[in-house]
Amino acid sequence: MRGLAARLQGRVLRRAVLNRPDLRWPMPAGLAARLTGARVQGFRRRGKYFFVRLSGGDSLLVHLGMSGRMTVSPDGLAAPTLHEHMVLTTDDGWRVSFVDPRRFGCLDLVATDAEDAHRLLAGMGPEPLEDGFTAAVLSAALAGRRTPIKAALLDQGVVAGLGNIYVCEALFRARISPKRLAASVAGARAARLVPQIKATLAEAIAVGGSSLRDYRQASGELGYFQHAWKVYGREGEPCEACPGLPGCAGIRRLVQSGRSTFYCGRLQR
Ligand SMILES: [Zn+2]
Repeated sequence: MRGLAARLQGRVLRRAVLNRPDLRWPMPAGLAARLTGARVQGFRRRGKYFFVRLSGGDSLLVHLGMSGRMTVSPDGLAAPTLHEHMVLTTDDGWRVSFVDPRRFGCLDLVATDAEDAHRLLAGMGPEPLEDGFTAAVLSAALAGRRTPIKAALLDQGVVAGLGNIYVCEALFRARISPKRLAASVAGARAARLVPQIKATLAEAIAVGGSSLRDYRQASGELGYFQHAWKVYGREGEPCEACPGLPGCAGIRRLVQSGRSTFYCGRLQR
């Protein structure tokens, strides 16, 4: 979103081309016509979604899904490429593309003054990077939850925007076992976890995110946070926190709710 904002803020969308009627869900009727001629007035992220706020009162809601990306390039009028489902051309000739080979992403329109009422955002928990996300808020959201903390943190109703990679990394940094009962993450543990969630996300954003397979920044560059992963994807590798200490068997993997979790069994309790 930040990469798009740097290029698009204040630009007028001269042309909008949709190359298919649907992604994960059907795109709204008249989407191309509503985008054409609108000026880009601002951006806002909420959880894993972001909004492109347009003159005329519409916000374009974007979710990248599993494999989606949005890119900007100077060739505004060139022919579409494979999996390029939406092409916007700005008044200064730039091209804004939504590319999504697996089509789990979504594009929708919502009134700017009703963004949070969109069905996909209903019930979403607090933003982890905002000051209002505190240890007290997190432990209140976890109270009574009988699931492992790993699963609870992936629940967008507990905290917005955390995905599998960032949950694994934050739990390692906070030295909390992914298997621990969510309700027991309170007090000192919650106070350890919240700053590590914030730090993990802030560091990832600063280096353009994580490129696991398809993800690229708006400029087309890969993200670089994968080089800073301490546990994710590192099964069998030494643990950097307690290498060689008794009980540290290196980074281990387990499957929770169908998703891989990576952790150190000694450090994380
Ligand atoms: Zn270890």
